[in-house]
Amino acid sequence: MPRRRRFAPKGTRPVFRPPLDNRGHRSLQRAHRLMEIGDFVNAGDIFERVAGSAHDKGLIWQAPRLYLQAGRAYTLAGSTRQGIDLLQHGLQIFASNQHWMQFQQAGSRAVNELQQFGHIDLAKELEAWLQAKLPTAFETTQTPDESTGQKRLPLTCPACGGPLRANEIEWQDAHTGECPYCGNGIRVE
Ligand SMILES: [Zn+2]
Repeated sequence: MPRRRRFAPKGTRPVFRPPLDNRGHRSLQRAHRLMEIGDFVNAGDIFERVAGSAHDKGLIWQAPRLYLQAGRAYTLAGSTRQGIDLLQHGLQIFASNQHWMQFQQAGSRAVNELQQFGHIDLAKELEAWLQAKLPTAFETTQTPDESTGQKRLPLTCPACGGPLRANEIEWQDAHTGECPYCGNGIRVE
């Protein structure tokens, strides 16, 4: 039997993270705007499409956030089953890449939002799913301080218009972050 060449396992090589192209940026601007005016159906549709293409390009940091936005939009539109499927799809990408801190933070935010929207059963379902997925050894000792950078951070990404939260941003250094939706570099002073 011929020997199979073994490839390095996931996570051992540096992650290549090219930002979205201009078309992706424009789509996201539109989707974020549709969210603001309450057109959740069309926003969800765009987020899902951009998420799919980000996933195809191997954007393992952006794709989950975009799926989460799509899931949030569909849930708000009343398509709750589709919404929760997309939330899980996004979270699963974090899990597959062993980004457990992001998995847990984004997951508990999604559970809280489902509760706020009045979908108590779905919130319980998602919470049970999160618990089952999370490795028992994982502890939340490395939770970053949400206040770090948030004061200086713009409310929305200048490139795609997405809402920015300090704990969802990859910080390259104290002054440079990266938009979780489009990968745009965000400079804070
Ligand atoms: Zn952005």
